[in-house]
Formats: sequence, structure tokens, C-alpha cells
Amino acid sequence: MHQAKQRIGVMGGTFDPIHHGHLVAASEVASLFHLDEVVFVPTGQPWQKEDRTVSAAEDRYLMTVIATASNPQFSVSRSDIDRGGRTYTIDTLRDLRAEHPKADLFFITGADALAQIFSWRNAGELFSLAHFIGVTRPGHTLSDPGFPEGGVSLVEVPALAISSTDCRQRVAKGDPVWYLVPDGVVRYIDKRALYRDTSG
Ligand code: ATP
Ligand code: MG
Repeated sequence: MHQAKQRIGVMGGTFDPIHHGHLVAASEVASLFHLDEVVFVPTGQPWQKEDRTVSAAEDRYLMTVIATASNPQFSVSRSDIDRGGRTYTIDTLRDLRAEHPKADLFFITGADALAQIFSWRNAGELFSLAHFIGVTRPGHTLSDPGFPEGGVSLVEVPALAISSTDCRQRVAKGDPVWYLVPDGVVRYIDKRALYRDTSG
């Protein structure tokens, strides 16, 4: 009997911390692209962020698990964390491809990151492994630096000016992050005393 190909979204990120922008983006793309599942993949050592201290991988992993646990369509992969070293999207996609050889992969990323895609390692092979979906904020446009025909889609995510940077700064100042991140993540940040050092 013919079975439809599985459609799997891949949401890579530092998730320091994961916030409702990430979750709404994943949910929106899952709905628009009829995805069966979205796998969140917290980075190992994020090479684009070496100018600041990134929280321990296990803390970022656990916050991602807490934030996604209630959604049966969402899961979390340890692949980038367990591989060790710097994270490159090409390795993330190769791992997921090996795990799901027959699925169609959809890599979900912010339009900001997508615009720099040609600085990524093996940019050409990336497009053969997955379809790329760039999420933008309403009103934010992306100039096409020459993406391959049909390789990239853009999706507007509603009203989300949330960023991890802002969440960290709020915690450092003692301002609330309630409702910007899931309740369990607020509690976890507090329990582990994350982001209290303002130099971070
Ligand atoms: P930071 O402020 O530290 O850069 P971030 O909020 O951008 O963190 P990341 O973990 O870097 O979070 O993001 C993972 C992915 O989610 C990236 O592709 C990023 O562009 C995207 N993203 C981040 N914030 C949003 C948002 N509010 N809406 C949609 N996508 C987002
Ligand atoms: Mg970012």
C-alpha cells in the first residue's frame, strides 16, 4: 500500500532561552506546510555567537524539552549537542536525513539567518537535503540573495517581537519574562539562576 511521505520540520536554534516566537513559528509552519512533526534541534557550540557566553547545552536542551513537551507534534533532537564541536546546519540535516531516509525535510529558520545562507558551510548541498522556510515578522521583507528556484519559502509569523536576547536582558534587569516564554521555562530560568549576570 502506498504511504504518503513523512513531512518533518527541523527548527534549529540556540534556544537560550526558547520563547513563544520559536513555538508560534514552528506551529504556523507545521500548519501551512502540513507537517507531521517538527523536531527542535538545540545547537552545540554556536559558532556565530562566540562573542557572548551561551548557557550550558543541557540547560538549553531541557528548556526546549519543557517548552515542547505538551505538543504531540513537537520533539527535540540531541543530535547537535551530542555531536560536539561547532554546529553546522549541513551536519544537522545530514543526521536527520540518516534518521529519516524517506521523509521530506523542511528547515525552518528566521529570515535574518536565511539571508546569510551563503556564508553557511556547503550551501549548495543544503538545498538538496531540505526545503528552506524563512519566517519573517509582519512588515519585515527579505531580499533574495539568489536562492535556488523553489528551494525557499517565506512565511510571516504573526506579531512576534520576541527574541532570546530580549528575554535574557529582561531577566538580568529583574523584569518579567512571563508569557514571552512558556511558564515552565520561566520556572527553569529561575531555578537554575540563568541570565542573572548582566555581562552575558
Ligand atoms: P538571539 O536573540 O540570542 O539571537 P533568537 O531569539 O534569535 O536568539 P535563536 O535561538 O537564535 O533565537 O533562534 C532560532 C531560530 O528561530 C532562528 O532561525 C531565528 O531566526 C528564529 N526566531 C527567533 N525569534 C523568532 C521570532 N520571534 N519569530 C520567528 N522566528 C524567530
Ligand atoms: Mg537570533
